[in-house]
Amino acid sequence: MCGIIGYIGGGNAAEIVLGGLKRLEYRGYDSAGAAFVADGLRVVKKQGRVETLEPYLKEISARIGIGHTRWATHGVPSDANAHPHRAGGIAVVHNGIIENYAELKAELISGGAKFLSDTDSEVVAHLLNKNYRGDLTEAMQKTVKLLKGSYALMAICETEQKIVAARCKSPLIIGYGDDGNYCASDEPALAGLCDTITILEDGDIAEITQKNIKIFDKFFKPVARLKEPNLAVSASLGLDGYPHYMLKELRETPLSVEATARAFEKVKNTLSAALAGVERVILTGCGTAYHAALIGKRYIECFARIPAECETAGEFRYKNPIIDEKTAVFAVSQSGETADTVEAARLALSLGGKVVAVTNSHRSELTRLATVVVPVAAGPEICVAATKSYTGQIAALYLAAAALAGEKFYLECAEKLKSIPKLLTYTFESLDMRSLAHICASSSSVYFLGRDLDYAVALEGSLKLKEVSYVSGEGYPSGELKHGTLALIDYNTTSVVIICDEALAGKSENAVEQVLSRGGKVAVITNIEGVKKRFTGKLPLVDLPPCDKFLSPLLSAVAVQMLAYKAAAVLGREIDKPRNLAKSVTVE
Ligand code: GLU
Repeated sequence: MCGIIGYIGGGNAAEIVLGGLKRLEYRGYDSAGAAFVADGLRVVKKQGRVETLEPYLKEISARIGIGHTRWATHGVPSDANAHPHRAGGIAVVHNGIIENYAELKAELISGGAKFLSDTDSEVVAHLLNKNYRGDLTEAMQKTVKLLKGSYALMAICETEQKIVAARCKSPLIIGYGDDGNYCASDEPALAGLCDTITILEDGDIAEITQKNIKIFDKFFKPVARLKEPNLAVSASLGLDGYPHYMLKELRETPLSVEATARAFEKVKNTLSAALAGVERVILTGCGTAYHAALIGKRYIECFARIPAECETAGEFRYKNPIIDEKTAVFAVSQSGETADTVEAARLALSLGGKVVAVTNSHRSELTRLATVVVPVAAGPEICVAATKSYTGQIAALYLAAAALAGEKFYLECAEKLKSIPKLLTYTFESLDMRSLAHICASSSSVYFLGRDLDYAVALEGSLKLKEVSYVSGEGYPSGELKHGTLALIDYNTTSVVIICDEALAGKSENAVEQVLSRGGKVAVITNIEGVKKRFTGKLPLVDLPPCDKFLSPLLSAVAVQMLAYKAAAVLGREIDKPRNLAKSVTVE
């Protein structure tokens, strides 16, 4: 969450910071700000998008600057709460949460500090100012000792020619340029600016000047950290004629599945070797990744017959899980930086378990700490709501589970998966979601129902619709309907029933009838001929091509994603950047 970028060098800091903030905006977009050393300290910050800030930055000429795009955790989005925060001659940007901010703030206020915002982050500015004795690096060293929580920090001081950065749990990288140096929360922020980077480790403090970078570890000892190539794509990622990234990325789903299958070939043997002897699997993730994990759990149980559990990472990490060396934890995260998932993985490792990172990021905290990485090759995903990364995760988990079941079974599954990209393309060409999207957009609530794998997709369908259209609802197992949700059904509600498992079709058809009998609107998403015959002409029907039941989530997923997209378009929502959300959730 939140993106930060800093630059010091011979170039125009305002221009570089602005460019970086635009590339980072997917991480948070409720406000943006920047600070520069230019005839003293200049701080500009505004509620709203980076573009609101742009005219102010155009007037600034400076060689040192830091910038921030915010996703608020403490304090509403406002000019005052936007970063950087300033105290005395020091300005700071922060990604993360200072968990002990209330105590620190009370203490600082009793010492005479005047707070201008409601954020947790402002305490860092006041602490730096209080600890400052002419050297910002020393002030940072003293300050971080007092902080609890997560942070990626960057600070500048009006009387010094340097940026000081510190990291604990939130990602932070250094970039080595030709005529200056950089610091940022991720590689894309530095795309096209530098070819070499260093990923800071927890507890590191970095002192960045135009010509030099010094890194200190958590004991404040100078350390050398690995220099690596910057892999971020420098070309700007355009819309290629699509009105939104969500639609573009949805249409890239066939490529995501294909590329993920190719990438899996390279890790198959490593995965099988690393997981030999594993007797239990736990899958974890957050949001969409958790929904992919639910599907992965069924694959592992059905294919490899290994007992599997699934839990959201935010729950898993605090429940003292039972893990030993025979347990494999599959940690699923698009960005590989999701704070809860990374911490869940760390916990699993500390208890002796093996961690399998299933991620779309090839270099992230999760890939660094994992025992083995199963790549999702969806490519960059700009829209905050996940689409092609979700289908990529499903494909990766399908192959991983098949590999655990043995070579012969794996080869059969890999062959079956090859048919999916074509079926997906066919689905996109034949899908017409317009009228159902209008129905959902005008419903008071939309319920997504299904059984088994269809239920997992129902959860994702509901989440996607909420995320991009703000239409409320729930994903529900069809069988549970009569145990509660039925009370909510009336003519203002719509139920979308997913039926892609022939063996359970009759049961889900009962749910359709139960809702219809109570006056609720119903639509069916199915790829089963009998179900199509039964409901054609009677209710809105989303007709998917037949396929193997275990692969049907890939098709029904794009159907519910497309429904969410179209409903959001009907309602005129800001589809790629839904309110209150951000991609890459690096805070708890
Ligand atoms: N906790 C800080 C705030 O609410 C930073 C949030 C972020 O990481 O964007 O301002």
